[in-house]
Amino acid sequence: MLSEEELQKYRQAGKILAEVREEIKKHVKEGVKLVDIAERAEELIRSKGAQPAFPCNVSVNEIAAHYSPPLNDERTIQTGDLVKVDIGAQIDGYIADTAFSVSIGSPNPLVEAAEKALEAAISVVRPGIDVGEIGKAVEQTITQLGFKPIRNLTGHSLAPWDLHAGITIPNVAEKTGQILKPGDVLAIEPFATDGAGYVDDLQQTLIFRYLRDAPTRLRMTRALLRDIKNFYRTLPFAERWLAKRMSKLRLELSLRELVGAGALWPYHVLSERGKGKVAQAEHTVIVTENGCEVTTR
Ligand code: MN
Ligand code: MN
Repeated sequence: MLSEEELQKYRQAGKILAEVREEIKKHVKEGVKLVDIAERAEELIRSKGAQPAFPCNVSVNEIAAHYSPPLNDERTIQTGDLVKVDIGAQIDGYIADTAFSVSIGSPNPLVEAAEKALEAAISVVRPGIDVGEIGKAVEQTITQLGFKPIRNLTGHSLAPWDLHAGITIPNVAEKTGQILKPGDVLAIEPFATDGAGYVDDLQQTLIFRYLRDAPTRLRMTRALLRDIKNFYRTLPFAERWLAKRMSKLRLELSLRELVGAGALWPYHVLSERGKGKVAQAEHTVIVTENGCEVTTR
């Protein structure tokens, strides 16, 4: 179970993040640069007294997740785009994680499918259920609306300084053997698509996470790893966050060396296999004695 102090930190992170989400929603419109949305969201989180728990993801159309725009990204939002904004905030390592989707110009029913699936999922959460019940609620809701859930993207449990704390929450019906208990903290995140229902890794990596110390050849790389550990601990960070300390070329070289040495985990940009558009909705919930409390409402 969580102590009162832990509960308060989860709630405060959630409250701040919900405010940021509502403010950022207003800025997701045609002509706005993706990188400006990400920077604005992260700045808002800091201005309200929390820290980003991971880089803001601004993933468009068939890109399902893990696109956190680099500083020099000139791309802007266009009419017809389906934009997913995924943000996280933490206080002393206690994390809130939320996401929303916006269809630019004209409505896209995928957005409602993801939102309805999230509500259906939240309504089944209580102690004693297999997390596969959450996946069942997601799959049924999205399928009934004529779309597909993305089978190989999942929600996850949260723990202090740990964005994926051991429990995986499927977006399809399955028996997992993982049973919920009071005090579990979960990020539930259905993805709906009109494509194949799977994502694949692209080559591109813009988000990383510290894994372990590992020997590297270059002094510059060793210094970078030391700072990454100090600044971000075990939480994900963006290439963009380090872009001011060295040239893009040197930074990319260093990050590649650290990934190769096993010191960093690379989060590949994820693209829908059938090139379908993808919508996402996400809330963080705390499992209570008879249901759950949504921290990011
Ligand atoms: Mn998220
Ligand atoms: Mn998440």
